[in-house]
Amino acid sequence: MVILICDAFDKSLPDRLKKFGEVTDNVARLPEADVALVRSKTKCTPEWIAGAPKLKMIIRGGVGLDNIDQPAAKARGIEVKNTPAASSVAVAELAFGLMLAVPNHLIEAHNAMKLEGKFLKKELKRTELYQKTLGLVGIGRIAGEVAKRAAAFGMRVLAYDPYVKHSDVAILVPSLKDLLRQADYLSLHVPLNDDTKNMINKEAIAGMKDGVVIVNTGRGKCIVEADLAEALASGKVAAYATDVWYSDPPDPSSPLLSAPNVIMTPHIGASSKENLLRIGNEVVTLLDAWTKK
Ligand code: NAD
Repeated sequence: MVILICDAFDKSLPDRLKKFGEVTDNVARLPEADVALVRSKTKCTPEWIAGAPKLKMIIRGGVGLDNIDQPAAKARGIEVKNTPAASSVAVAELAFGLMLAVPNHLIEAHNAMKLEGKFLKKELKRTELYQKTLGLVGIGRIAGEVAKRAAAFGMRVLAYDPYVKHSDVAILVPSLKDLLRQADYLSLHVPLNDDTKNMINKEAIAGMKDGVVIVNTGRGKCIVEADLAEALASGKVAAYATDVWYSDPPDPSSPLLSAPNVIMTPHIGASSKENLLRIGNEVVTLLDAWTKK
């Protein structure tokens, strides 16, 4: 069996996979691969799948499966697995880091001192997360971890998720509108699908509180970039702190790259050292189960 590691995984993984067969990271060997390990960089399009005639299984190290054309994989009888439980804490910690960076002006203060030699002690007015309302769009694994951290900060935590009927960590609201109307901070934690694509658009933004802060560690395509950039310019949205983009990396023409009050990270939510190890453990477990079938 040939196992092809297409993207970045923990460096211990190749050795741990040797018991299952030959392990390679040479993507030119896709035509020989029985199993392909991908994260988000590799796009498993119908063309990519057609170039892998022996492929029986794709393992996505991570949560979202939007980089895999699942109907095309299914049509070829290729099993698609992911490692949904591994990444929750890693992504939640980044979401929280982004959320803390905004009211504490961390980026602005640092850049002023480091790049401009300015000591903005009087100019920078901080605000607190304490007693603010956090609106979570989706209350799955990652949002659940964000909710627990927000509770520790004394935030009021609301969530909208049409597929969840009960939550121990958030007050559920019946509609996205209800959530948007109340949130001081809005954090996106939904998968990318037909319902969530472009869900944060002009109309949604109009229903938000003035000066809302939006944090996005979900998917860049859940927001309409031009609409958000306009709302940042007008001040309707006070800040957008994001790890995720319309594409990785964003197109240089993305209006968010030049919009005011955007804090950006390069899709590193799942990339903690600890999480790469956890993802590796889940990959080994999946292959163990699959080879014993
Ligand atoms: P999850 O499946 O545990 O939770 C997703 C939740 O979204 C579910 O509870 C689901 O019911 C809800 N949902 C689906 N459609 C919805 C809608 N239209 N409105 C409101 N809620 C809806 O997944 P998770 O592990 O919490 O991950 C969430 C997403 O985070 C992933 O799908 C992925 O896009 C993103 N993610 C990003 C990174 C990163 O590096 N930044 C890493 C991992 C995951």
